[in-house]
Amino acid sequence: MNQHHNSRLYQSEVFRMACRQFDLAADAINLSSEVRGRTKYPRRAIAFALPVRRDDGRIQMFEGYRVQHSLATGPSKGGVRFQQDVTIGEVAALAMWMSWKCALAGLPFGGAKGGVVVDPRTLSPGELERLSRRYIQEIIPFVGPDIDIPAPDVGTNEQVMGWMADTYSNHVGHLEPAVVTGKPLAIGGSAGRREATGHGVAHLVHAHLQELGIPITEATVAIQGFGNVGGETALALAHLGARIVAISDYTGGIHNSGGIDVRKALEYTAYNKVLHDFGGGEPITNAQLLELDCTVLAPCALERVITEENAPRLRCRILAEGANGPTTNAADKILERRPEIEVIPDVLCNSGGVIVSYFEWIQNRQSYYWSREEVLEKLHRQLDQARDAVERQRRKMKFSRRLAALTLGIQRVADAKLARGLFP
Ligand code: NAD
Repeated sequence: MNQHHNSRLYQSEVFRMACRQFDLAADAINLSSEVRGRTKYPRRAIAFALPVRRDDGRIQMFEGYRVQHSLATGPSKGGVRFQQDVTIGEVAALAMWMSWKCALAGLPFGGAKGGVVVDPRTLSPGELERLSRRYIQEIIPFVGPDIDIPAPDVGTNEQVMGWMADTYSNHVGHLEPAVVTGKPLAIGGSAGRREATGHGVAHLVHAHLQELGIPITEATVAIQGFGNVGGETALALAHLGARIVAISDYTGGIHNSGGIDVRKALEYTAYNKVLHDFGGGEPITNAQLLELDCTVLAPCALERVITEENAPRLRCRILAEGANGPTTNAADKILERRPEIEVIPDVLCNSGGVIVSYFEWIQNRQSYYWSREEVLEKLHRQLDQARDAVERQRRKMKFSRRLAALTLGIQRVADAKLARGLFP
């Protein structure tokens, strides 16, 4: 395969977008042709059928994927997405971003991602358990604390990770908690992991507000997606004193310029699963939410929501990418010509999740557990280091913040490939 052509296997808009980002970054730092193709292209992918017995006795087939983008600097790391529209191309793009993210944060991991084509809301708890166990069972030769370590992503959670850890542990004959992260605390989950991604988003947003001279108590925030990342981002920013004026999920959104009671919204969604009919403000669509006049806009749901079409109409000061890949290449170009909007790019903005996953893996391997305070303090330090590196690169190279973050991550992965050489 010619490195300048995109793959046949991973054909998808999201993969093309991740490749375009890579090409721009690789050109910007003159990445050597010796490592360019090897650094860009995912190392390997596993696609498999998942037969699951439904509660009514029928056996239903699902399709699953795991893409391991890089194993050059250690085991690969990345979430598993249970979502009805997921494709192997999307998973491959997300795996690429995980590689740059881990490298930027200075973690000894490569990137990976997984997915199952399923709407988990249509499964009973028993069906979800059987699917989760079957998923990890199918990739047993390719996962493990030194090979590849899954974690939660869209549509999966702590309980799913608990079932996966148990399935793998039954296979090896003893509890092996370090095979997945984002587990329940009772079997080696880390304090602070559940809130880590949103907490990290809030920490970085706070730093940028301080730089802009905007007191956080005067900041208004609109958040798309009210799952793990969106919900915890809302909670952490509200805790710091910001006013959350809009939230949404796949059923639509709520706008309240006086401020939304985030705790109440979280209690409501914990019980009702969706925000629909929560009240607490005026209903708005997801599209309207993105164009609200606010200080901080945080897309925390899916990819490609900031587009060529709405990028000129954004009215935020800070675009905090809690989600992976929320901004298309075309939208990026538009935002580069709108310096009044500070973009905190996904590979930096949501890296709190994988940073605390790294801490969880360390704690599992040492069987020595840290307090939530220790975890969050270490998280802040690691995020600040990554952010400082991005700001330095940005100033030195006169890059956008995204290009600065991507070039740092990509260069580190490429350096590892160069140092290892090509086998045989
Ligand atoms: P989640 O399943 O917990 O929540 C997803 C949320 O997005 C839900 O509220 C859902 O209703 C909403 N949503 C789904 N489709 C939507 C649509 N079309 N429009 C509006 N809202 C929609 O998932 P999550 O773990 O919070 O992940 C969200 C994003 O953050 C993803 O891009 C994921 O890759 C990224 N991320 C997650 C983590 C993590 O630790 N969980 C870490 C880094 C990045």
